Amino acid sequence: MDIRSCDEREMAEIAESLGEKKFRGKQLFDWVHGKQISSFDEAGNLPAHFLDHLRENYVVSGVTVQDKQISRKKDTAKYLFELTDGNVVESVWMRYRYGNSVCVSSQVGCRMGCTFCASTLSGLTRNLTAGEMLSQVYEIQRETGERVSHVIVMGMGEPLDNYDNLLAFIRLLTHERGLHISQRNITVSTCGIVERIRDLAGEHLPITLAVSLHAPNDEIRRRTMPVANRYSIEEIFEACRDYFRETGRRITFEYSMIRGVNDRERDAKELAGHCLWLAKQGVQCHVNLIPLNEVRERECLRSRDEDIDRFKFALEKYRIHVTIRREMGSDIDAACGQLRKKFMDRTAINPEEVKL
Ligand code: SAH
Repeated sequence: MDIRSCDEREMAEIAESLGEKKFRGKQLFDWVHGKQISSFDEAGNLPAHFLDHLRENYVVSGVTVQDKQISRKKDTAKYLFELTDGNVVESVWMRYRYGNSVCVSSQVGCRMGCTFCASTLSGLTRNLTAGEMLSQVYEIQRETGERVSHVIVMGMGEPLDNYDNLLAFIRLLTHERGLHISQRNITVSTCGIVERIRDLAGEHLPITLAVSLHAPNDEIRRRTMPVANRYSIEEIFEACRDYFRETGRRITFEYSMIRGVNDRERDAKELAGHCLWLAKQGVQCHVNLIPLNEVRERECLRSRDEDIDRFKFALEKYRIHVTIRREMGSDIDAACGQLRKKFMDRTAINPEEVKL
């Protein structure tokens, strides 16, 4: 069992089950999430039999750096982390004027099957535990020696397909005796699993919801996102409206620009119509245009710069907030899942080489 996935209550229960006072659980929490120990040996003030019990029954689920790429400007670093079972995930560290941000993975692989994305190429292997998500942040903070102020769950995987662990992760990450990252500085990105968006709204956490829309209508959306066969854009927008009402947080729509698929001026107009529908009901939103990162195994192409600019301009005419994602780290395989894919290709056994 992974101690980094345990919250204060669970740690108090461990202490009590050993006949120790509750405050021992609190001390354990301070070691694990306050000081981010990587081994129980570092937990100096706990009684020996308590530590023995921990060593026998728990692990501190670290992640180890397998590979690291730093961008030329040194404002982005991409990490390939190995988990204790040998699986690998990616995380990205970005330095902004307002602070340092880490993009974490929530699953090993992904089962959503978006046709432009590298993370989903070999399907879902497994969910990450809360501790494994935290470890990505802890390790990067330790490596860089700089405080992390923002976390975005936008790496590999679909976070709302790993809902309980995601929530445990957010609670631990924002705990006042842990890293104490502000909930307002957390963004969760989803391909639009409507029931889970509604569940998340019901938690009343002031975190930002980013929805990967990537299309102005269901017909186009179904061409690249299988999840569009389950939920319509209308249902997604209704859920976003309710999310805003429950949390007061502006919704971000992500829109990866794919040449000849979703980048015409009339697509922008249709998208504007949806945003205006939200605005009419007092819901604020923001569109983030992402020039597609072309993935070797995928056929999708990046939109031309002039088409991206025209698209942005068309949205602005309707007074919609729109930005084009600054391409940090485009010199370092920053597209989701690309670093891991390369690693897996490199370590995979080539069947021709296996001679029996
Ligand atoms: N499962 C979550 C997180 C995915 S990654 C989600 O769907 O939102 C974060 C964003 O990058 C998503 O909007 C995703 O659709 C997008 N993305 C994935 N591959 C991409 C690529 N090759 N180029 C541009 N954006 C991509």
